[in-house]
Amino acid sequence: MKKWAKALIICAVIAVVAAVITFSVMSYLNPQPKKWAVEGDGKIEEMDYEASLQSLDMMENTWQTAVPQTEIYKLITEHFNAPLPEGKTEKKAIVIGYDGCRVDSFRLLANSKKSAVNTLLNDGGEAVFSYCGGVNYPAKNIQDTSTAPGWGSMLTGVWADTHKIYGNGMPKEIEPRTLLLSLVEDKVIDSSAFYVSWAGHFSKKTATYINEKNYIEANNINANFKRALNDTGTAKNVLADLNSENCSDFIFLTLEYTDHNGHGTGFSLQNPKYVNAFRNADATGADFIDAIKARPAYDSEDWLILITTDHGGINKSHGGPSFEERITFIVSNKAIVE
Ligand SMILES: [Zn+2]
Repeated sequence: MKKWAKALIICAVIAVVAAVITFSVMSYLNPQPKKWAVEGDGKIEEMDYEASLQSLDMMENTWQTAVPQTEIYKLITEHFNAPLPEGKTEKKAIVIGYDGCRVDSFRLLANSKKSAVNTLLNDGGEAVFSYCGGVNYPAKNIQDTSTAPGWGSMLTGVWADTHKIYGNGMPKEIEPRTLLLSLVEDKVIDSSAFYVSWAGHFSKKTATYINEKNYIEANNINANFKRALNDTGTAKNVLADLNSENCSDFIFLTLEYTDHNGHGTGFSLQNPKYVNAFRNADATGADFIDAIKARPAYDSEDWLILITTDHGGINKSHGGPSFEERITFIVSNKAIVE
């Protein structure tokens, strides 16, 4: 065989091997989860945002009467401090977070194939509008409509004027403690778990809860902060916990599908990738609820199940003061509005 022909074959083989390796690595890092698209996705009618929110008839309140996202803290605290209902022997709670999920995504629920939000509502739960940023729209927000301040306000029950998490990359002091730490340290519960894939939570020097994670480890507190590479990994970690006999009493998790696709291709129902991201997040959330209901001890456990988001989004970003970024949601398997 001619030298140049040999060289050509070797080059071709190397190219194919390189392509296979690249594809495998990319699939591992950024897996394409199951598709839950339904007929009509990608053809969602564009609506004025206010009209869009008004069309959501599953909501118990209006966006004008939205509750602060710190309500999450209150709901969990009240749940664990309330007496056990008749026939129950153990309290449990989970917060299923869809990062960067615009509340108008609820327009997609009418024809979802598999949805955690629909499951909770069908089981007698409630959905409400909530807000991030420290104050409801249209007053100027006091903290960024970003990831760290949003989840931080839910986990500590206060806004940035107290927790000082004004934006991402600002490590919180130990105080105010998150529920993941305080509930366990104060012996309200035995264990908690924080499942994420975003490194900004507790996996780098500038991460929001890096000080708290170090404190938890130094003091042998039973709060498990676990980061996976992606949402598939997070789901695996959550399911392994839920499927274990003595699962964590309080689980807080975030899925990045919606935020990731919003930044990449646009926070919009006219964007099929964003629609698919919501479908994937909500189907994954439904897997968690299925796992909870399948627990052998489920009948004797008193579960509070919450679904929420840290902020909305507009175009390809968030952090700012727009209507689309400010209004969020809380869905619960129990009554939220008294
Ligand atoms: Zn976020």
